[in-house]
Amino acid sequence: MKVERSPFVVSIADLLRTPGHRREVEVQGPLGELKSAGTVVGTADDVDVRVGLEAISEGVVADGQISAPWHGECRRCLKEINGHVDVDFRELFEKQPKEGETYPLGHEEIDLEPLIREALLLALPLAPLCEASCQGICPTCGADLNEGPCGCPPAGRDPRWAALDDLHLS
Ligand SMILES: [Zn+2]
Ligand SMILES: [Zn+2]
Repeated sequence: MKVERSPFVVSIADLLRTPGHRREVEVQGPLGELKSAGTVVGTADDVDVRVGLEAISEGVVADGQISAPWHGECRRCLKEINGHVDVDFRELFEKQPKEGETYPLGHEEIDLEPLIREALLLALPLAPLCEASCQGICPTCGADLNEGPCGCPPAGRDPRWAALDDLHLS
């Protein structure tokens, strides 16, 4: 059985032998599903990571940029929307990682995936909009108001309109 190796596991053996040396790496691949409140990075989406790695006395510093596509639903009109997020990071990998602060340093490699997932979760929009000016859907008939008015009376009726209605009836 072939074990799939994560594209985000990076060898650092050379770095640990030469402290102070910096190496740039580019890794790319699907991350597995990543969900925030209103958006998702799908299992088939390629996430791009450019990372600079440098060995220091405490461990290995990784800094760079993550770039990922996302998919979601407009919070007003529920239309499917696709977007793209870029996020910068700078994190420390060390032998004895501090919970919630640093990441574990393996013997000869580090796994960037937990870092990538956390950085993306913070950067993904929670409640995306298809457009800032999205009109949403009519709460009465469900029509997409971006395609024009549906003809329903306004939801919260203004008493002034009720007065007008009375005029028409008489
Ligand atoms: Zn919308
Ligand atoms: Zn309507």
